[in-house]
Amino acid sequence: MGFSTDAIHAGQRPDPTTGAVITPIYQTSTYAQEELGKHKGYEYGRTQNLTREALEKNVATLEKGKYGIAFASGLAAEHALMSLVKAGDHVIGSHNVYGGTYRLFELVMKDFGIEYSWVDTSDAANIEKAVRKNTKLVFLETPTNPMLVLTDIEEAAKVCRRYNLISVVDNTFMSPYFQNPLTFGIDVVIHSSTKYINGHSDVIGGILITNNEDIHKRLRYVQNAAGGVPSPFDCWLILRSTKTLAVRMERHNQNAIAIAEHFNGSGLVEKVIYPGLKEHPQHELARKQMRGFGGMISLEIGDEKRARHLLKSVKVFTLGESLGGVESLISHPSSMTHASVPKKEKEKFGLTESLVRLSVGIEDVEDLIEDIERGLKI
Ligand SMILES: *Cc1c(COP(=O)(O)O)cnc(C)c1O
Repeated sequence: MGFSTDAIHAGQRPDPTTGAVITPIYQTSTYAQEELGKHKGYEYGRTQNLTREALEKNVATLEKGKYGIAFASGLAAEHALMSLVKAGDHVIGSHNVYGGTYRLFELVMKDFGIEYSWVDTSDAANIEKAVRKNTKLVFLETPTNPMLVLTDIEEAAKVCRRYNLISVVDNTFMSPYFQNPLTFGIDVVIHSSTKYINGHSDVIGGILITNNEDIHKRLRYVQNAAGGVPSPFDCWLILRSTKTLAVRMERHNQNAIAIAEHFNGSGLVEKVIYPGLKEHPQHELARKQMRGFGGMISLEIGDEKRARHLLKSVKVFTLGESLGGVESLISHPSSMTHASVPKKEKEKFGLTESLVRLSVGIEDVEDLIEDIERGLKI
């Protein structure tokens, strides 16, 4: 089936009791058992919940995977993922990953004896160079936030295969609509479903997707054993949202392309960073592994005062963290999402005080362009 058909139907069927077209919210902590050892496969809400199962099957199908394992947040999903390694193991990560990922790995998991190296994975050879005897897992994010640097997923997966490493891609920025890392040989995809998958800025959620039976078994075990599960209502909200993922992503993409092209070479900003522009150094790679370019744009304004003025003067864009919702957001990575990264590190990536990040929503693009343009003209 095509993506939109799967988005609306996969994992769902009319409710057998009433024929309800929409999967009900099974808001229950426990289930009646007919007699000792005899039940319908549902014993306790942490272990089994039908609304959650419907969501897991739905998103797994969209990611071209067999198994989905849902969590209460993207970071809860990453925490469960870290149970695939143990004390003494080494993990390689893309530098410039989502700040919360860096914090979880470096400031929490490191205390459990896991070693981390952060490398520029935009060149797959750097992954190979970082491999040690005890390396077990490679965690990639592509494109990165907010510099929108890409990693060649196919090349990275090949390196991981060669060294028998578990390969993981954080696919939050592209959503399953524009990029499917499993089809390039990646073992596990992680999403913060808080972002594009839910898309309405009203749920925190995360999900892991894999085709690997052993990895699935372990992650399913940990989902129940550690218990970072999402509520049935949150699962239902996300399931409602994936039905419109295709149309939302088309519009995010269309609006972002229009904005990037409008300001590129306009003289109003120093540089527009967007994988959909020919000027993006990895534009060809973007065309190869993505089916669209997404809704995230970074603008190097070139002057901190003008950047601050823009952030203050916008009326349609909302100043705020997060991304991927139907409403447009604007942020200042240097002082917001990346405040905890040392200045020297930030400079290395090109993350300056005058860099502004846009999460382009699905409003009328003329209003979005006018909003930014007004803020830039001082
Ligand atoms: C938001 C985000 C996360 C963390 O997800 P939460 O749902 O906020 O826990 C991980 N990776 C990326 C790329 C994100 O944008």
